[in-house]
Amino acid sequence: MTDRLTALTAAELAEAIRTGETTSVAATEAHLARIDAVDGAVNAFLAVDADGALAQAAEADRRRAAGDELSPLAGVPVAVKDNIVTEGLETTAASRILAGWVPPYDAHVVERLRAAGLPILGKTNLDEFAMGSSTEHSAFGPTRNPWDLERIPGGSGGGSAAAVAAFEAPLALGTDTGGSIRQPAAVTGTVGVKPTYGGVSRYGSLAMGSSLDQIGPAARTVLDAALLHDVIGGHDRRDQTSIDHAWPSFADAARAGLGDGAVKGLRIGVPRQIAEGEGFEPAVIADFRAALDRLRDLGAEVTWIDTETFEYAVAAYYLLMPAEVSSNLARYDSVRYGLRVVPEGAANVERVMSATRAAGFGDEAKRRILLGTYALSSGYYDAYYGKAQQVRTLVQRDFADAFAQVDVLAAPTSPTVAWTLGERGDDPTKMYAADLTTIPANLAGVPAISLPSGLADGLPVGIQFMAPAREDARLYTVGAALEAALDADRGAALLAGAPELQEATR
Ligand code: GLN
Repeated sequence: MTDRLTALTAAELAEAIRTGETTSVAATEAHLARIDAVDGAVNAFLAVDADGALAQAAEADRRRAAGDELSPLAGVPVAVKDNIVTEGLETTAASRILAGWVPPYDAHVVERLRAAGLPILGKTNLDEFAMGSSTEHSAFGPTRNPWDLERIPGGSGGGSAAAVAAFEAPLALGTDTGGSIRQPAAVTGTVGVKPTYGGVSRYGSLAMGSSLDQIGPAARTVLDAALLHDVIGGHDRRDQTSIDHAWPSFADAARAGLGDGAVKGLRIGVPRQIAEGEGFEPAVIADFRAALDRLRDLGAEVTWIDTETFEYAVAAYYLLMPAEVSSNLARYDSVRYGLRVVPEGAANVERVMSATRAAGFGDEAKRRILLGTYALSSGYYDAYYGKAQQVRTLVQRDFADAFAQVDVLAAPTSPTVAWTLGERGDDPTKMYAADLTTIPANLAGVPAISLPSGLADGLPVGIQFMAPAREDARLYTVGAALEAALDADRGAALLAGAPELQEATR
């Protein structure tokens, strides 16, 4: 029974709990056992809260027995990326500077999970402060890709994606500033969604690039991601960027994708600049083109379009994001949170602060703080930060032009499959190149989904769809339609995982 419960999708598990076939406590125990069995190898979790999760599960079961009105996902356990605060549960953002910090409050999305009765299994690993594309920048060791333990699980949300891919959790939360939900989803064969900017409250998510950051779902199916999005989305006064909008049910949008002709006549644009070219593995392009063929079979109209400024999105992002980081990370000052290093001899505030930041931040965080401070400094502001803002505006115009012609855009989520651990450690720009296809959506604030499109040399490849702001529902419809069409070809092969982990999976 233990193994079977972890193999279910969140929707199936919710149904099994609802009908009394199983309980939330049993489902939570099964996932905790799975974490015990495989997380030594995967390292998806920074902290596991077995007692807390089981108490929440018992409460969900109690509410069900009492006949309370419950959410569609009630009782289904979930994992939370460790840059989202959880009351009473250590939150580190995978940084030494926050090690041991126990937040006094819950993030908005965590409040929502608790209210909806989803037990929180624990906190997942990430690149320090969500800066990176491989989870190797975690101060607490890298997460490994469940498909091949010698490979990276993507980043920064490699922990959330790997936890879901390795059946340690049916669902997880991530954050996406430049691709950190979608790229890990692509390289782990899972589903990840970056909602419209402002669609999910960031209250209680540790700010990195505030004009870009967005919280979203990670799951193994499109419907599961939609169900979780329904739980966490919607307006919250405590995040001033939160949109007050009557969002439709994303689960309904996903189910609509399963109907006949759901994508018939849908106009899909392929932005040439982020769908082929230098740095794209041929096997990724071949897989992507095969997915486009399936979409055509389903009745969609696929056209290639030019979005010339998308080529400059990475360069603009790696000025804007560090600029915002340099100011957001100023709050880790040795006084208010976490680590404090007092150097020998007479200490003044400045020396304590500098010793703390020198010891507490890893190399990538320091690199970005320095870069961002430089890009904002007087004399360089116009040339770097100002120029990057202009590029951002042009990218937004390219999106507007594109969406005047098509309903959604499609591209590979990542130019390559998962690379081996350490492979891109020597040159940060190699790591940044992994974000070529995901960053445009963040610069424009539009929603995007990644879902598995196939395998290249036995490793997962993801396809990404982007839609106009507030049209997240479209992503779930087209995503579910394609998922269903591809599943017919592939069966369960896509969820097989690394041989080392299979034994415990099935
Ligand atoms: N890989 C990107 C970066 O390093 C994206 C990070 C993110 O989305 N949090 O900044």
